[in-house]
Amino acid sequence: MNTMKNTEQFILPEMNRERNRSRRNTAADCSRFVMPAEAKNLGSGKKYYIRTYGCQANVRDGETMAGMLEQMGFTFTDSVEEADVLIFNTCAVRQAAEDRVFGEIGSLKSVKARHPEQVICLCGCMAQEEVVVEKIIRSYPQVDLVFGTHNLWNMPKLLARVMNKKERTIEVISEEGDLIEEMPVRRSTSSKGYVHIMYGCDKFCTYCIVPYTRGRERSRRQSDIIEEIRQLKAQGTKEAVLLGQNVNAYGKDLAMEDGFTSLLENCAKTGIERIRFYTSHPRDYSVTTIDAMKKYPNIMKSLHLPVQSGSDEILKRMNRGYTSGSYRDLYDEMRSRIPEITFTTDLIVGFPGETDAQFEETLDLVDYCQFDMAYAFVYSPRSGTPAARMEDDIPLAVKKERLQILNDRLSEIANRKNSLYLGRTLKVLCEGPSKKNENVYSGYSEENKLVNFTGPDGLKDQIVEVEITGTHSFSLDGKAL
Ligand code: SF4
Repeated sequence: MNTMKNTEQFILPEMNRERNRSRRNTAADCSRFVMPAEAKNLGSGKKYYIRTYGCQANVRDGETMAGMLEQMGFTFTDSVEEADVLIFNTCAVRQAAEDRVFGEIGSLKSVKARHPEQVICLCGCMAQEEVVVEKIIRSYPQVDLVFGTHNLWNMPKLLARVMNKKERTIEVISEEGDLIEEMPVRRSTSSKGYVHIMYGCDKFCTYCIVPYTRGRERSRRQSDIIEEIRQLKAQGTKEAVLLGQNVNAYGKDLAMEDGFTSLLENCAKTGIERIRFYTSHPRDYSVTTIDAMKKYPNIMKSLHLPVQSGSDEILKRMNRGYTSGSYRDLYDEMRSRIPEITFTTDLIVGFPGETDAQFEETLDLVDYCQFDMAYAFVYSPRSGTPAARMEDDIPLAVKKERLQILNDRLSEIANRKNSLYLGRTLKVLCEGPSKKNENVYSGYSEENKLVNFTGPDGLKDQIVEVEITGTHSFSLDGKAL
C-alpha cells in the first residue's frame, strides 16, 4: 500500500445520470475562475508533468491544467521521474488507449516507491467511467487523485487536499455545473491556439462514450470566445482552432438562431490570420456556414466531416441521423460552392452486423467523396454505450482485413490528390522543426496539408510561401521561397 495516504475521500462517477439526463436546452451558468487560497504557492520548488491522450479538446484541457499548475508555482518538467505531480489526462474513445494508460500507471509503482511523495493524478474522459474508477480503487493504490471532466477547474483545491492532508481523493462529478471562464492557460504551441467554443455532446451515437463522459452540450458565451481569440491575435498567434464535439450545434442552448455561423463570422472579423474548426456533424450542418467559409478569406477552406459508414442501415444503427445520400448531397453542395475545399473524414469498419455488402457501400462512398485524408478505425465496443449491448459479431480478422482494404483505397486517393500539388506554391504556417527530422520545418498549408520543407532560420510561427517539390499520401515536401 502507498504509505503517503492518511485518509480517503471518494465521490464516484454515475454514468446512469448522464444516460438518463433530459435534453435540457437551457444555457449553463457562467462563473469566473479564482485560485483557492490553500493552493497558492503549493507548487513552489516543485515540478509537474502532464501526459495528454486523445483529441484536441483534451490538449486544450491539458493547457488549462498547466496554466493552473504554473499559477500555483509549479514548473514544467519532461521527466516522469523528476515530477512531483504527474497527471494522466486521458481519452476514453478506444479501448486500446485505455489499456495503454493502465499499463503506464502500472509501471509507475516502482517510480513511486523511489519517490513516495510524488502525486499521481488521473483525469479526462476515462475518469468519468465507473469501471475505470472501480479498477483504480481496487488495483492502483499508487494513484492519489482522480477528478473528472466537469470539475477540472477544481484541480488546485483537490491537489492541495492530497498534498497537505495526505488524503487519497477521488472526485468525479456527473453533473456538468457552471462554465468556468478566465482559467489560466499555458499554450502548448505558439503558432496556433485551441479555443473551446462548447463542451459536451447530445447526439448519443450508439458507439460513442463522449455524451456520458463530457455531458450535455454547453456553449460558451460568444463574448468570451471572441476575447480569447483577440488575446491570441495580440500575442502573435496566427491560427485559432475552434473546438467542440459537434461545433455546428453551437448556440442551441443559448437560443441563438444559426449560432455557429454567427460565431464563425465574428471570429473571422477579429482579423486573426487563420480559423479552423473541429469537429463538424453532418446532421447540424447549415448552408450559411458554407457561405461564411466562402466569404471570409481567413476561414480555412478545409472541412473535417465524419461520415463513419457508407451504409444507411449501419448509419441508422449508429444513430447518426443522416443517410449516405444526404451526406453526398452535403458534400456536393460544399464542392459546388467552394470547389477548392479539402475534405477529410472519420470511418469505422466492423460495426456490429456489418455485412460485406455494407462495407462495400463504405468503399463506394469513399470513391464518391475522394477524401483528401481519413482516419479509419476498427470498431471497438465501449462499456456503457448502446452498441456495446449489440453482438460484436465481426471476427477481428475480418475487421482487420476490411481496415486494410479501406486504408489502401484511402491512401491511393490521397496520393493521387496530393500529386496535384506538385510545383504549386502553398502558404504554410510553420510550426517549427519536424518531429522526424530537425533539419526540415513542418507545418500546415491553408488546405490543411502537412508540409515538410527546407528554408532559412527563423521561420517558426510564420506563414511561409512554400514551393511543393515532392508528394506522398499523407504529406508534401517543399522549399521556402
Ligand atoms: S457526435 Fe456522435 S460520435 Fe461525435 S461525440 Fe457526439 S456521440 Fe460521439
